[in-house]
Amino acid sequence: MDAGRIDILSLDRAGLQDAMRILEQPAFRVTQLVKWIYQRGAASFGDMTDLPKTLRERLGGLYSFALPVVEARQESADGTRKYLVRFADGVSVEAVGLPAGDRLTVCFSTQAGCAMGCSFCATGQGGLVRGLGAGEMAAQVLLVASDYGRRVTNAVAMGQGEPFADYDATLGGLRLLNDPDGLGVGARHITVSTCGLLPGIRRMAGEPEQFTLAVSLHSAVQATRDRLMPGVRTYTLAALRSELAGYFAKSGRRPTLEFALIGGLNDTDAELRALVAFTRGVPFHVNLIPVNPVAGTDVVKPDARRVETFRRALSDAGVETSVRVERGADIDAACGQLKQRIDREA
Ligand code: SAH
Ligand code: SF4
Repeated sequence: MDAGRIDILSLDRAGLQDAMRILEQPAFRVTQLVKWIYQRGAASFGDMTDLPKTLRERLGGLYSFALPVVEARQESADGTRKYLVRFADGVSVEAVGLPAGDRLTVCFSTQAGCAMGCSFCATGQGGLVRGLGAGEMAAQVLLVASDYGRRVTNAVAMGQGEPFADYDATLGGLRLLNDPDGLGVGARHITVSTCGLLPGIRRMAGEPEQFTLAVSLHSAVQATRDRLMPGVRTYTLAALRSELAGYFAKSGRRPTLEFALIGGLNDTDAELRALVAFTRGVPFHVNLIPVNPVAGTDVVKPDARRVETFRRALSDAGVETSVRVERGADIDAACGQLKQRIDREA
């Protein structure tokens, strides 16, 4: 990293505001700066031609600025594209573009790697490298938008990392995505997926934006969940359940529960009964995800009939349920298959 200079992508809009205030600049300069970085894809401060030359020079002295680069790009037969995105310090993450009709959804990373260690997830295998700044999250979405040459309609924080491990950075990232001067994605079309860090869920309930919250449940049986998700053992299912009820009561927004069905593990009748019981009283949306096999783990896909049994039982219990369509598995871009690359150029 640059000696003494702050990476501008580590800042959110509030951080950019502070930066401009310190430089005694009028508020509209923040709008100009956000637009140059997150809409116009400026390559340097020098490109920002409607900023006074002296300001550009002062910014260049105080801040380093380089958009990440797409180091590798793979395209699936179904149009899904997976990107290896490398930041200026050499750390890389993956982002995925998922076009469907008029929509373009981008799945972005909030951390390089992840410390939570979920047993079925490729990201969890490699541990945490570092968290990402707000701008580093938004920049991934910008790169994917420019590669497809179209507007991003939906964004999901479901790539590498646990979004609520650094709540402030993630919220700043979501806000840059939502910002009309930034990516301009509607708040309702931005989803943040957490493994269930309760302090983050509590803070999210108080945010004014209509962001969508998804929680990875994966089992409503404590012993099973502890085994699958060792990183969230400290939060019991009962505490998670009551936090989510509080979230709905306070925000009026319906949380999504993600349930990755793993053959022979959490697809049993006992697991199904526990899941149905967990959903009572809060209008959850349940998203069933037939697990994607990950090398180095022993997870196997569930039988299609078990997926259907879960879907039907939940629907019969009045729970809105969907089954996630697998996309991009041929390029290892499907859920849980994003892994941390530690290879560096020779
Ligand atoms: N850390 C966050 C968000 C990133 S993971 C979280 O865990 O929620 C996005 C989703 O993919 C989560 O629901 C996660 O549990 C799921 N996932 C992880 N590994 C998977 C796999 N092998 N197959 C299917 N889904 C997986
Ligand atoms: Fe981290 Fe989410 Fe993977 Fe768990 S499932 S290891 S929380 S990225």
